[in-house]
Amino acid sequence: MSEPGSPSWSRQVAAFAVHPGFVEQLLAEHVDDGAGRCSSPTCTTSGGYSRARWPCGMSQLADAAVDLIRSRRRT
Ligand SMILES: [Zn+2]
Repeated sequence: MSEPGSPSWSRQVAAFAVHPGFVEQLLAEHVDDGAGRCSSPTCTTSGGYSRARWPCGMSQLADAAVDLIRSRRRT
């Protein structure tokens, strides 16, 4: 997973922003499970033994993509 703010991360955000429906799906799946972990079964650490901390990389990407989509609509 790329670091937030890096060029490759920005490219990933831009790629996500092309598909608003996909981004909405990500935001619906990657939510806090109430214990500070991502509720998506695809977000795991340590070889799949535990859920990733939330906000996970995917939710951060989706958040940034939503911001990008909204900023484009404003213009
Ligand atoms: Zn996640």
